[in-house]
Amino acid sequence: MKFGIAAKLALLLAAVGILASGLTGFYAYNVSRELLVQAARNELLTSNQVLARRLAQGRQEVSRNLQILATHPSAIAALEGAGATSESQLATLFEKVMQTNPSYFQIRLISAAENGLERVRIDRDGDQLLHVVGDDLQEKGHYPYVSDTLKLPGGKTFLSRIVINHERGAHSGQDQPTVLLATPVTNQKSQTLGLVVINVDLNATFALLKADLPAEFGLYLTNAKGDYLIHPDASKTFGFDKGRRVLVQEEFPETSTLIDGNAQSMTVESSAVDENQVPLVATFTTTTVQVPNSENRLILGLAQPLKTVLAQSHHLGVAILQIVVAFFVACGLLAVLVARAVTRPINAVSAAARNLANDEPVVGLPVSRKDEIGLLAQSFKKMQDQIKHQLSELQHSRQQLEHLAGHDVLTGLPNRRLFQDRLEHALARAERTGERFALLFIDVDKFKTINDRWGHEAGDTVLQITAKRLASITRRADTVARMGGDEFVILLDNPSSREQIVTIAEKLLDNLRSPMQWAGQEFQVGYSVGISQYPHNGTNATTLMANADKAMYETKAAGRNGYRFSPGTTKPGVLS
Ligand code: GH3
Ligand code: MG
Repeated sequence: MKFGIAAKLALLLAAVGILASGLTGFYAYNVSRELLVQAARNELLTSNQVLARRLAQGRQEVSRNLQILATHPSAIAALEGAGATSESQLATLFEKVMQTNPSYFQIRLISAAENGLERVRIDRDGDQLLHVVGDDLQEKGHYPYVSDTLKLPGGKTFLSRIVINHERGAHSGQDQPTVLLATPVTNQKSQTLGLVVINVDLNATFALLKADLPAEFGLYLTNAKGDYLIHPDASKTFGFDKGRRVLVQEEFPETSTLIDGNAQSMTVESSAVDENQVPLVATFTTTTVQVPNSENRLILGLAQPLKTVLAQSHHLGVAILQIVVAFFVACGLLAVLVARAVTRPINAVSAAARNLANDEPVVGLPVSRKDEIGLLAQSFKKMQDQIKHQLSELQHSRQQLEHLAGHDVLTGLPNRRLFQDRLEHALARAERTGERFALLFIDVDKFKTINDRWGHEAGDTVLQITAKRLASITRRADTVARMGGDEFVILLDNPSSREQIVTIAEKLLDNLRSPMQWAGQEFQVGYSVGISQYPHNGTNATTLMANADKAMYETKAAGRNGYRFSPGTTKPGVLS
């Protein structure tokens, strides 16, 4: 295949187009990915903050309920030993609160005295509420949440660590994730009589948190030290309760800044992966609860698979790829069209140059174009015209030269050289066909006298007139030549007989003898003719010429102005 300028140009244009569209597509795709990841981070962070606020609100609500219960007269009365009535009233109140708050496992009134004996206790047991009484009431004074709460001033809330509830006889709350909130019960004299404790079911709280999240979102909750409390993989939660630590900072090392308290919220790079090695985008936020407790911080996290985030970018990628492919095809077509449009006129000029070199007609030159190619075509056309003109002049000069080489300048008759050539041809043909021919050698008589008396020009005129007369008498097939000086020769082609030669010689002499005019002068010129015949007087040029010349001299010797045959030798078929 010819890999011409058009193909190269088309390839170059197509490559530039594809490179441009490819780079644009690649850049757009990358930017879109970046934007999508950023948007996902923002969305996750916002959701995260909303959840954190919801968690904080939940706690505040429990705190408010605690305050209502702790300041209720029957709570104070019960602790001051007022008797069974106030305890029963309080139990009813606890039940109502638990009915309206399904996430409460348990509400208790615990006395500061009697080793922290439970005075009123309502447990959730499946769908039932259980009023625990008598010997089932336990002493809780040894639990830190009791002693810690009793140290608080009235109106303050204690918040426990989030743990798995291992308190004996806790009914539905038994072995479930839970958090305890408690507040002291004080009397008019600000003496702390006991405490009200609400045990919150965190399963329900966590379920509520998850409920509003899209299915693909992963929810994480850790305590201040990073122990997982909620994790998409439930086996990783409450590791500390099973004697092992499963920490967020081990799974997402970036979150250690939150654990150290150096940041409030952060996003995890998309290179992070979940337990199935699926790349994630995740955000984590610290939520702080204003309670006088060592564990006042929780870290809430949300994650979304990078794949779902980038789903749109995948669509965009496919669209960009389609655009690039379409651009590729369009660029290719355009490049071919442009390349052809550019190279077609160049090809036309090139074809014209080739045709000119091969001497073929030059057509289709784009001379009417107004651009550089048009100029090139016009210049080429001009050059072509000049070459044609010079060629024809050269041809003419050559023809003239050829003519000069074979003709006598003065008379225009073939010269000795051309005559020799013709004679050789005649000999060859005669040998081949058996035809005959004759040579008539003619010399002007006393030509020197004309020159001497009338001048050289007069002599020239005599020679010219002689040439014309000789040419007019002979046939087309015969050759009349000037051999030099005042000598002429006629090659008579295929004479039918000696008589015909005689007739021609006499007719010739008659004609030549007629007077000539020059500058008002009249000349009468005589001629001596010697005749040799092929093959009678020779079969080669030299012999035939010599014999004719000899016969001519014999005519001169015999008195000039006549003709004489070369005697020769008689051969069969030779004219006698
Ligand atoms: P003859 O009868 O013996 O032939 O005598 P001639 O005077 O003709 O003698 P010859 O043929 O030997 O002389 C030829 C002369 O022709 C000699 C030369 O001066 C003259 N001559 C030769 N070429 C030219 C020419 O081109 N022009 C003219 N005017 N004279 C020429
Ligand atoms: Mg002479």
